[in-house]
Amino acid sequence: MATPAEEVTERDLAVVAEQLGREPRGVVSVAARCVCGRPTVVRTAPRLPDGTPFPTTFYLTCPPAVAAVSTLEAGGAMREMTARLAEDPELAAAHRAAHEDYLRRRAELGEVAEIEGISAGGMPDRVKCLHVLVGHALAVGPGINPIGDEALERIRETWRPDRCTC
Ligand SMILES: [Zn+2]
Repeated sequence: MATPAEEVTERDLAVVAEQLGREPRGVVSVAARCVCGRPTVVRTAPRLPDGTPFPTTFYLTCPPAVAAVSTLEAGGAMREMTARLAEDPELAAAHRAAHEDYLRRRAELGEVAEIEGISAGGMPDRVKCLHVLVGHALAVGPGINPIGDEALERIRETWRPDRCTC
């Protein structure tokens, strides 16, 4: 039986449409919610209804969270984090393990040949989109996606999951 966090209702889909400014496609569940109950991350099918392969299984939808992450990205965090992956074998291994976790969770929703072995956000070797990594971190909880966890820590003053800013 699905937990309440994993259910998706018509109301949720309406909120996500409002958050994204468009109709959400391929949403299978809500992967994380704000303390107010609104979705912050949706879990999306690896193939959209129109047939398009969609690698980004965990999609950050909450506008204040998206904005906070964009500000972090604009400050050059991705370049700095990618450089650290090259210097820190432990971090690099954890980032690669996060990639494997991402692929494993996506495979639960079905295999899509076009994106086999390809995750998202720059994993396993780079950091290309912190929204993706934060979405994964929020969906699965701390300790799985180290870069996503760090990004959440760094935006904490602006946005955090236990305080509603919807
Ligand atoms: Zn909220």
